[in-house]
Amino acid sequence: MLKRSLTEDAQEVFRAIALIELGARMQVLESELTLSRDRMIRLYREVKGVSPPKGMLPFSADWYMTWLANIHASLFYNTYLFLKNEARCSHLDALTKGYRLYLEHCRHSETEAVLDLTRAWTLVRFFDADILQLTKCCRCTGKFVAHKHDLQHNVVCGACQPPSRAGKTKKAAAARQQALGAAQVAQAA
Ligand SMILES: [Zn+2]
Repeated sequence: MLKRSLTEDAQEVFRAIALIELGARMQVLESELTLSRDRMIRLYREVKGVSPPKGMLPFSADWYMTWLANIHASLFYNTYLFLKNEARCSHLDALTKGYRLYLEHCRHSETEAVLDLTRAWTLVRFFDADILQLTKCCRCTGKFVAHKHDLQHNVVCGACQPPSRAGKTKKAAAARQQALGAAQVAQAA
């Protein structure tokens, strides 16, 4: 059993609470924290008032490629990367702070959040596993989420080229524009 100080132990508990409040599933907690499974289940029940949902995480990388999900995933991942690389946050801090900033962006632009915390976490895992990459849009120069081996040149992001069926084009485009400014917002936070 890992020997930890009381302070370190308390910090792990706070991290778990933050993740649970943001909507993390058990798989996320188990992967990110060193607390015992029993304690995390107890924490989950205390914070949420219900038992954690069971079952596998059903997500595939293709989910992030649909038009709206791609805009949201790109917004979150740009923020995450800024926090990790420029603000020197740990992976876990960048995940929780980045996800909170993403929710704020959605609130400000009156857009419904389509990316839940677990999907945001899975997104980072796909990048770490080299399944996804960021590709530069040749129109707005913003970077968006793409499959690893997709074309890198002369490609256009979803916000610059929304599908005709997209009813809330302006809102999504506004969200995308905010993604471009995510670094500045993250810096100010
Ligand atoms: Zn673009």
